[in-house]
Amino acid sequence: MLESMLKGVISRESVLSAVDEYDRVGQDAFLAEYGFAQARNYLLVHEGREYDSKAIAGVAHQYEYGRALRPTEFHGGTGEAVVWLEQLGFTVKSLRNPDWAWDEVVLACAITADNGWRGLAATDPRVVELSGLLRLLPIHDASSRNDTFRNANGVARKTFDIATRHPDYQGKPTNGGATDRAVLQEFLASPVEMAAAAQLIRAGVLTGGLQAPAVADEDLEDFDAPEGRLLLRQHLARERNPKLRRQKIESVVRHGRRLACEACGFDFQRTYGDRGTGYIECHHVVPLHAAGEGRTKLSDLALICANCHRMIHRRAPWPTPGELRSLISEAGAPGAQDGS
Ligand SMILES: [Zn+2]
Ligand SMILES: [Zn+2]
Repeated sequence: MLESMLKGVISRESVLSAVDEYDRVGQDAFLAEYGFAQARNYLLVHEGREYDSKAIAGVAHQYEYGRALRPTEFHGGTGEAVVWLEQLGFTVKSLRNPDWAWDEVVLACAITADNGWRGLAATDPRVVELSGLLRLLPIHDASSRNDTFRNANGVARKTFDIATRHPDYQGKPTNGGATDRAVLQEFLASPVEMAAAAQLIRAGVLTGGLQAPAVADEDLEDFDAPEGRLLLRQHLARERNPKLRRQKIESVVRHGRRLACEACGFDFQRTYGDRGTGYIECHHVVPLHAAGEGRTKLSDLALICANCHRMIHRRAPWPTPGELRSLISEAGAPGAQDGS
């Protein structure tokens, strides 16, 4: 019986049976019977009532396979229990709000900078406006938010977290996290660029230009941009525009030049033969905040091999192809390989 148990593969009926049992014996007895603690992060909402979602998901296995999952055997969050329940069409609500993403802190930093690096009150129109904007950002999905998601109080508190981390601030900093500090550093180092980035995110959300992610978030793990994930997605989508890439490649070929990486010289055709003919990636050399909404010029695109492209985006600030070429020759110097 137990060998055939598939974790998370449960039916709607089993979940409803667990819900029935919960209703019948009551929350305390249900949790005690199966060894679960009270939910801290997620609740299942069914017919207007709330249930500890992890316990329900675990006990549903009892009805499916004859044995409940123990609390230590699975996660209650969006990796496991929440997804299992949502896939069956159940509603799960979050008790806590997600941490602030980099992009959100960029926007909060911009209004704090605008206020002379002092925190803003919850009644300040800039806070009220930003609160509305943050609810539109396509970063946190609905099931991870609760009713207080980025409300005016929360936004105001964030501006104080940021302001009290400013080097000129004399008192004790309020809470805030590593992201707050890192974004603040970017603002202090490049105030004009970061203000422009905030402006672009804002404009992109309001016009809907940032709404549809053309690049999956998993693909962004090895990428870094001080302007945040939303603008990074937009940047990468623009580089991957097949029409532009084709035009760039055609113009290089027309001028009799080789399709080779501008950083390391790699030539796909030379290494892969016919399979590599005509292949190269394009990298947009103009930074996100400076590229704006305007049209991409072919001269803004550099030919770059897949390896070099990854390395450019891996850490901000992004090196130009020429700078990367210097890094390659430094790393290739005698002795660099064996660390001696
Ligand atoms: Zn290369
Ligand atoms: Zn690129």
